[in-house]
Amino acid sequence: LIMSFSSVLPEDEDFFRAPNYGDDLGGVRRRTYTTSAVRTSVSRAPKPAPPKDDTVFAVKDDENFSVFAKGRDYEPVYVTHEYTEQEKDTLNTYESCDYLPNHSHIFKHWIKRQNISDLETDRWVMIGLIGFVIGVVSFFLHQLIERIDHLKWRITKDLLKDERIWEGWLFCAGYSMLFAVFAATVVVFWRPSAGGSGMPEVTGYLNGTQIRRIFSIRTLIAKFLSCVAAIGCGMPIGPEGPMIHMGASVGSGLSQLSGYLKRINLPFFERFKNPEDKRNFITAGVAAGVSAAFGAPVGGLLFCMEEVSSFWTKTLAWQIFFCCIIATSTSDIFNSAFERFQIIGMFGEFRTSRYILFNVDEAVDINILMFIPSVIIGVIGGLLGSLFTILNLKIHRYRKRILASISRQWVVRLVRLLEPALIMLIMSSFSVFLPMAFSCIPFTCIKGETGILSEYCVNDTMNKYDSHFVEENIFHTCNVGTYYLDGTTFVYNGTYNELSLLIFSSKDEAMKTLYLRNSHKMFNYGPLFASLAIYFVMVCWSAGTSVAAGILVPMLMIGALYGRIVGLIMVDIFGVHLDDDYLSWMDPGAFALIGSASFFGGVARLAPAITVIMMELTNDLKVLLPVMTAVMVSKWVGDFFTHPYFHALLELKCIPFLNQHPHVRIDSTNVKLDLFAAEDIMAFPVVSLNLVEHVPKIAQILLDYQHNGFPVVRKNKEGKRVFYGLMTRSDLLVLLDHRSVMCQGPVEPMNDETVDIASIEYDKMLKGKKDEEEINTRFLLQFVAENSDYKDYYVDMTPYVNQSALSIQTKFSLQRAYTLISALGLRHLVVVNGNNEVRGMITRKDLMGHHMVEFLSPILQTRPY
Ligand code: ATP
Repeated sequence: LIMSFSSVLPEDEDFFRAPNYGDDLGGVRRRTYTTSAVRTSVSRAPKPAPPKDDTVFAVKDDENFSVFAKGRDYEPVYVTHEYTEQEKDTLNTYESCDYLPNHSHIFKHWIKRQNISDLETDRWVMIGLIGFVIGVVSFFLHQLIERIDHLKWRITKDLLKDERIWEGWLFCAGYSMLFAVFAATVVVFWRPSAGGSGMPEVTGYLNGTQIRRIFSIRTLIAKFLSCVAAIGCGMPIGPEGPMIHMGASVGSGLSQLSGYLKRINLPFFERFKNPEDKRNFITAGVAAGVSAAFGAPVGGLLFCMEEVSSFWTKTLAWQIFFCCIIATSTSDIFNSAFERFQIIGMFGEFRTSRYILFNVDEAVDINILMFIPSVIIGVIGGLLGSLFTILNLKIHRYRKRILASISRQWVVRLVRLLEPALIMLIMSSFSVFLPMAFSCIPFTCIKGETGILSEYCVNDTMNKYDSHFVEENIFHTCNVGTYYLDGTTFVYNGTYNELSLLIFSSKDEAMKTLYLRNSHKMFNYGPLFASLAIYFVMVCWSAGTSVAAGILVPMLMIGALYGRIVGLIMVDIFGVHLDDDYLSWMDPGAFALIGSASFFGGVARLAPAITVIMMELTNDLKVLLPVMTAVMVSKWVGDFFTHPYFHALLELKCIPFLNQHPHVRIDSTNVKLDLFAAEDIMAFPVVSLNLVEHVPKIAQILLDYQHNGFPVVRKNKEGKRVFYGLMTRSDLLVLLDHRSVMCQGPVEPMNDETVDIASIEYDKMLKGKKDEEEINTRFLLQFVAENSDYKDYYVDMTPYVNQSALSIQTKFSLQRAYTLISALGLRHLVVVNGNNEVRGMITRKDLMGHHMVEFLSPILQTRPY
């Protein structure tokens, strides 16, 4: 079904790609020159060589190419990550985005023609549309996951209740493995780019790196299917990461729809076909994805701002806020009316049980003393978070090493399909058999006067928890219980199995149970430690498999488990204290919540976002300050040991990324970049072009040098060649492909009056080629360079040159050059001397930490610092 569906879908993400600007020249440029054929031929760096020794392992599949080195996962956050030579090559295979349009005469001419009066309104409409679609996607995702998950547990429980243990296990394992294999098949055979959470790729893109195919419609569908199947069958992963990727795809797809529907002219969509708008809509999609997945609109916005987005403005924040409202309310409205696709008739009623994911009913009052255990939990969060990151990266590398050692492609694919199945076999076996090793604990449920099944169940330590969980989770070895009437109250006696509540049910149910208040001794150490170990290892393992998987909810689960352990230790030391007692804050349920936040903080190193997400997820504002404390402490502790998890993944996948602030560390010293100048890092000599240039020479330069930017110079009155502007490789290719813009013999560059008229003419000439099919760039370049027809041809680039290309002086501070590039999203920075003559070139990738270390280390040895 998928394959046949895929055949009617457009080819690639190229249709979603934004042109430099507008429909006209931009459309020509991108459609013609950023196809895969061109990318292959113009790509600057050669493909990474095969691994030479056993320290580096390269794995190539259809779309992802990554190099993995051993044992460098331990750098604290302030240490510059070192890449191996192969990893550097992989970094170079990625190209940067041009976020700022080429500010040429033709661009100005295009701007004049645009009607921008309704632009802002249209943007808000588009944002609303994106939010709505993401809300709908999230609704379907949740309903499908619930349905698959519920069916599995219902049938398994029925079989176990009938004492058909082996059949129950067989069904549980078989069902889970089937879905796991399906989830992996979609990724392995159809869209490898849909694997994983997609977060590193989206983060990299929003930072300014082009990554192929991540926003295509096929990737979106594959991600959805894989995510539904993998989470529905009970893999220890969550939908939040994939929702971020899906949100970004919806943001990109909808806003660039006219590129997608190639022949249909939709003016509403046309106006957003520029890289900046595309980036903003993708950012909105990311935030809306998190919001809809967690039901946490503000948390989603903060998460996007803190973790994923690199460019943020106030206007964008408002628009994203709106997008999050629409996405979350759309998803909540639909979810309020349906449960597992069955109508439950509460359309529009935001009941806390369905509206707030892990709603806490009875929040406890906190006390100043609560900060002490919160700090301890924070420290544990930082330590375990770092351990989680290291283990996860180790498993990633180990897996890649094994796959790289297999020579046959079909075996590699088979292994990638079977790995999730193996995980599910182990998980199902744990779920069915492990609880049997733990005895059942007695409990009593007291049924209220209303006749509705009891509000509270009281176990032998006189602590309460909601009967719903007991009913849902009675394990087959436990006593189903008896009802009796005590005056006006029904009493229900039975037994429950602690471990089954944690691993023999859906993760959401288990989380709710862990967060329950006034349930001090509901779980003992054995089940808590057992499930902590299982989840910790299995989440680490599952996160890198070939399925669409996120780890946000599993992280909350792991944190909740050790949070409860800390709470239980305190209860064992100080005793159980119920309402109105001065120690009533000592509630393991509250510590479970703090634990979740601390682990999330220890792994992701986010602070405001996690705090707000936790509040929105649990509705428990009373523990706000302890949660903030734990998150802060876990972040500080984690930073001592490893990079944040998501950044470590960026490094693992060799995706170029510029932090907002540079961290360059040489020989255990943090380098002060303000003490260095642009000339210390720039590339020189620079290959530049004359404003009026000989056509075969341009072609030859493009053949000889794979740079993406070429400064354009013109002679001043003193005859010196001074910096005039910048031409990108794709601009030059457009010109070379249009003979009509060339002239015979050298001419004087156009002046200010003639250039405006010429721009209109040139614009028309280029428009004529708008729908031309892609061309072979190398063939074109060779043809132009060698064919005698072009011998006398020159091109005056005045109308095309980007006159707003930034240039800095050789002595310009390196720190500020970094700020310029990272804050403005620049790709090139030209370095000139006092006479405005071009002296060097700095690109975005030149400012990556490892590159600066390479350049600055020798300087440090010769120059006092
Ligand atoms: P991206 O591919 O994302 O544009 P990059 O750094 O790989 O980034 P290239 O244009 O391929 O971009 O440049 C590679 C190296 O060559 C960089 O160190 C850069 O400073 C240098 N460089 C770029 N353009 C020129 C040029 N016109 N002349 C000389 N060196 C250049």
